[in-house]
Amino acid sequence: MEFYPIAIEKLIEEFAKLPGVGHKTAQRLTLHILNLPKEEVDGFARALVKARGTIKYCSVCGNFTDTDPCAVCANPSRDKATICVVEQPKDIMTMEKVKEYNGVYHVLHGTISPMAGRGPDDIRLKELIRRINGDIKEVIVATNPNVEGEATAMYISKILKPLGVKVTRIAHGVPVGGDLEYADEVTLSKALEGRKEI
Ligand SMILES: [Zn+2]
Repeated sequence: MEFYPIAIEKLIEEFAKLPGVGHKTAQRLTLHILNLPKEEVDGFARALVKARGTIKYCSVCGNFTDTDPCAVCANPSRDKATICVVEQPKDIMTMEKVKEYNGVYHVLHGTISPMAGRGPDDIRLKELIRRINGDIKEVIVATNPNVEGEATAMYISKILKPLGVKVTRIAHGVPVGGDLEYADEVTLSKALEGRKEI
């Protein structure tokens, strides 16, 4: 059954591929776009293409960036001896809001999850190990406090400890099974403060 012209069906299909967007929402977004002034839609399309075309991963930390290294890695006032390991680039934004952390980051782009068939080689662990040298004093693991995040933290600790680096895990406050993204700034600040060696 064809309800819409092919171009509309195609757009609904594309929206439905986005995370958290079901068919109904995809349909609503498509109809919304079609009701916008043409210039606005052109601007939206240009922003999509530009972001995808110019944003890449920082070759040092793996964060999204339009310069390489990224602004954090290139900042001379950041403490390069402390690396905070996070799952996704969005977690860096969460940590930066706390404004208490002055070290650098490492984005894993995922977690180890035997259930989902993701092993250590599927995330940016080798890149993390490569960054460990005599100058690195502490690696703070800030993966999410759920099963996969914990498993990943334990693995990182096991791998890095023999290299003589202190590995800590953010501790208090972040609710178990929760997501770093939803922790408020005070909670996250306390979690950072109360980190424990693992
Ligand atoms: Zn970077």
